[in-house]
Amino acid sequence: MWLVECPSFWDQGLVRPVVTEHGNVVLMCDSCTAVWRTPSGIEDFDHVEPAEPDWSIGPDTHVRPGTTRWAERADVTTAGWGDLRWRELP
Ligand SMILES: [Zn+2]
Repeated sequence: MWLVECPSFWDQGLVRPVVTEHGNVVLMCDSCTAVWRTPSGIEDFDHVEPAEPDWSIGPDTHVRPGTTRWAERADVTTAGWGDLRWRELP
């Protein structure tokens, strides 16, 4: 599932929900890997660009490859984002 197209002018990725190793649900572009910690952050261009080696997205969590998974409906509902206009992947 995905929420919006990546707001970056140069990118055509999809912003999708991800569950981190610590159980946080965040939003990540499946193309440029920019991360938003909240849906409202997307409109505000309030993103994080995780990078090697720690892939940190804040003081309490990270998106290191191999530790995350794409979220499912139940995950976004738990995060309180169940009412957003999620779309199915093509
Ligand atoms: Zn992107």
